[in-house]
Amino acid sequence: MHLSKRITTLTGGGSDGWDVFNRARAMIAAGTAVTELTIGEHDIRTAAPILQDMHASAMGGHTGYASVPGTAALRDTVARRIAARTGVPTTRDNVMITPGGQAALFAAHAAVCDPGDTALYLDPYYATYPGTIRGVSALPRAVRTRAEDAFQPRAGDIAEHAPGARSLLINSPNNPTGVVYSRATLEGIARVCADHDLWLISDEVYDTQVWEGEHISPRALPGMAERTLVVGSMSKSHAMTGSRCGWIVGPAEVVAHLINLATHTTYGVPGFIQDASRDALARGPAFEEEIAAPFRRRRALARRLLAGQNAVRLVPAQGAMYLMLDIRATGLSGDGFANALLDAHHIAVMPGESFGQAAAGHIRVAMTIEDTAFQSALRTVIEFAQRHAKAA
Ligand code: PMP
Repeated sequence: MHLSKRITTLTGGGSDGWDVFNRARAMIAAGTAVTELTIGEHDIRTAAPILQDMHASAMGGHTGYASVPGTAALRDTVARRIAARTGVPTTRDNVMITPGGQAALFAAHAAVCDPGDTALYLDPYYATYPGTIRGVSALPRAVRTRAEDAFQPRAGDIAEHAPGARSLLINSPNNPTGVVYSRATLEGIARVCADHDLWLISDEVYDTQVWEGEHISPRALPGMAERTLVVGSMSKSHAMTGSRCGWIVGPAEVVAHLINLATHTTYGVPGFIQDASRDALARGPAFEEEIAAPFRRRRALARRLLAGQNAVRLVPAQGAMYLMLDIRATGLSGDGFANALLDAHHIAVMPGESFGQAAAGHIRVAMTIEDTAFQSALRTVIEFAQRHAKAA
């Protein structure tokens, strides 16, 4: 039977970048203790009061079909939060609730790309980006950022690839690099979008995890609100990854079309999840800081451990729950390093190459285990790199 090219070519073929992760999981299944510094999942679970809100809503009867665009209460809450954080007037008509940020990324590309259109994204990138673009039958085109620029994108590099493209996907704070885009970077990006009439899809799911500098939403830059779709999520900010609740914020006209798309795809998000998300957002920034605090703390611990040696260089870790480490002094590739580290010390990290070509010779370390174990694992990573750097 025929299967569509859309589905059979979704992952682009070849290694999907999860080899080290899969090998670590196989070792664990076989009974080996492995320290996993791989995926972006908190080491805490969703807070009990949020689960109690969820329970109360479900017991109260909010278990039927919920409003497809999202409940009025949650859309209003998201709109108020975005308006307060960015200064951009935002109402419920600018917001659609989605089953997580991933569904929002898909819907955003579906909204602006026709089949065969070119959709730009920046390398290194979050693993699903090219597949998400292929999923709407658009053509993913990577624009490389550079290690020597600490992975802040250059407007000129994007402009080179922009002619004929339809959209540009960016992510700040960034997974995998931990870099937060500066105002100058974002102004450059905005200029390219205006010059080449590009839609900007801004993935801001890590917007509450900023350790240095400030999170700037490009939707707030002059002239950008009408060409920007912001992707947000409860996953990272409120440790609600499994609840699958996110949103798209953009021009009301686009949101109206997105609601049609949702009617024909997801049919919305469960009402009790939305009620719990609204209550979680109502807890305000202090609660969000509590969720972000372990990563802030571990990042500080890591900076102390990494100081005073040259075998491993930390890419400025300004936000998100990851550290990108430059291990080129060891003479190993990211893949080689990650595989050898897993074999020698049973520590799993992600090779930079899993996130594209621009992060070759790097590894990504997720700060998602308890502080003492995290420090001990990082010490081992450093010693391992030092041994190889001497030999190199
Ligand atoms: N964007 C980025 C950059 C991510 O890292 C993730 C999850 N790891 C997502 C989007 C999707 O998150 P969710 O679907 O859980 O909201």
